[in-house]
Amino acid sequence: MILKTRHRLDTIEDVEEFYAAIRRERLTQSLSEDRPYTYWTIELYDQANGIRGGGGLGILAADTRRVAEQMNVPFTLVTPFYPSELHQKFENGKSIDESRPVNYEDFGFELIDTVNIRCNKDLVELSVIEKEFNSTRILAITEPNFGELYSGDSCGDHRLYQEVALGFGGYQALKLVGLKPAIMQLNEVATFFAALARLDELASNGMDFYEAVVYTRKHTLYTNHTLVQAAEASFSYEQFERYVFPNLKSRAVKKWLSDKFENGRIRLSSVTIEIAELRSGVSKLHARVANYRDLSGEKVKFRAVTNGVDLPYWVLPNIIDCYKSVGILDKFCLPSETYEDSVETIDAEAIRELKAQGRAFMNQVLARRPDQNGVFLNFKPDELVFDFKRRFVDYKRPWLPFTDPVKLKRILENHNAHYILTGRVHQGDERMMAKLNEVLDKIKNDKFLSTHVHYIADYDEELARALSVGSNISINIPIVGLEACGTSWEKDVGNLCLLVSTHDGGVADAPSDSYLNVSGKDELEEIESMYTRMEEAAKAWENDFDLEFWEKRQLSRYIPTISGTRMLKDYLDYLF
Ligand SMILES: *Cc1c(COP(=O)(O)O)cnc(C)c1O
Repeated sequence: MILKTRHRLDTIEDVEEFYAAIRRERLTQSLSEDRPYTYWTIELYDQANGIRGGGGLGILAADTRRVAEQMNVPFTLVTPFYPSELHQKFENGKSIDESRPVNYEDFGFELIDTVNIRCNKDLVELSVIEKEFNSTRILAITEPNFGELYSGDSCGDHRLYQEVALGFGGYQALKLVGLKPAIMQLNEVATFFAALARLDELASNGMDFYEAVVYTRKHTLYTNHTLVQAAEASFSYEQFERYVFPNLKSRAVKKWLSDKFENGRIRLSSVTIEIAELRSGVSKLHARVANYRDLSGEKVKFRAVTNGVDLPYWVLPNIIDCYKSVGILDKFCLPSETYEDSVETIDAEAIRELKAQGRAFMNQVLARRPDQNGVFLNFKPDELVFDFKRRFVDYKRPWLPFTDPVKLKRILENHNAHYILTGRVHQGDERMMAKLNEVLDKIKNDKFLSTHVHYIADYDEELARALSVGSNISINIPIVGLEACGTSWEKDVGNLCLLVSTHDGGVADAPSDSYLNVSGKDELEEIESMYTRMEEAAKAWENDFDLEFWEKRQLSRYIPTISGTRMLKDYLDYLF
């Protein structure tokens, strides 16, 4: 079984209807084939096109482009193509990383031409490659020594080189293919140099410098995913002298940028705030609490545009069909006007039948992705499966369910349940690698846990989708205040998993009684609450009444949030 994901609007009438549905009839005047919405991102997570990201930032970029394609919006995504990528595998029970080469020709990219940027006194030649998808395209820059995503130090020369290459190289690439950006959306500050390249072009082609600044600001949106400005990387003046200034033609722009250094260093967020008048955060909570100051010390306001997901891509097709046929989603995958009433028509029998289909799909993926013991898993439709699938980072607390192995064991035993864990450690994060190995040891040293808790290596899109469609209960327990949005829980809600979660990120767009909420005044209380909620979720799957209650609750509270089309609509509303 292959997940079919074509849900495109096919006729111009459909497109006009979409623009009308989102009350943007005049959008056709602002956006056109050669004046597209441009989206800049250092990370794209789109494995079908040979580009593997690190996490949510890249997933968001891929989902945004796919939704734009479905809605026939002229859209160009500009990103690097990394010629190698890291994969996780097991050797002697230990997790290790290996680098694998990736070839853009294998993924249908076409070489357009080359562009040059100046770095460290050298001229660096970048290949411009392109792949078109109806109204959208991916425009990428690459060269054999470009390196891997997020390799090396975030304040290091190579990272700065990658960011400069994307900005200055990508901007030239856009011109090479004859495009003018109607809008530039900067997916995080690593893409700042794209807006700088535009400012430099305007200012060096005769426009008054201040007019150029105003023009660039009005057409640039900075999308922030980070909560704390101080946690961001910074660069030195000397690094800018080698990598950035040589690429600027306008002396006024050079002067403007030089003035932004404080004590010889620059933080890209502070200049991105200066160059982008439009600013967004990725959930209601995040937009409210992100603590950013501009150079004059004023607190920065962010518009909340909660991340959504490309529902037809992530959700089992039969579930999408069900949402459409009972009137939860309209043909654009926007929530219908009556979605809250329509949700009431879903019953436990339908939920169980749809999840059984999802289970079959999950089993197919697990048939080629063994667990830590080398076992290829296969679950019966009525076997209960918990999952935790996330990057293995501190704030997401993947180890929390293992703090009391006896309690975890009791829950799994009581409900004949299994627990699937997957998530990669960031390259070079030795502390987290040690934590992962500690969890793996706890599992290995217990006879029951070693056969009921399964760690699957090399977490990626394929696993994310398989677990979302096939598991029953998903666990999302970031430290409250640290998750900007999170999108895997959205895939889970869409796929009818019961959500056990702390109240953070996009989850907090709705009240805390919308799902099985984990809370407490400290971590010990949260751990107790988590086990209680896991037990309740397991019981709910054994009882039609509770299952229907929670599924309807989740859908009625989150359908608007999780819709990727709703997200695109929110961006279009904000931008035009
Ligand atoms: C959806 C997805 C993410 C995003 O996960 P969050 O932790 O919820 O932000 C990361 N990686 C992969 C592979 C995904 O599919």
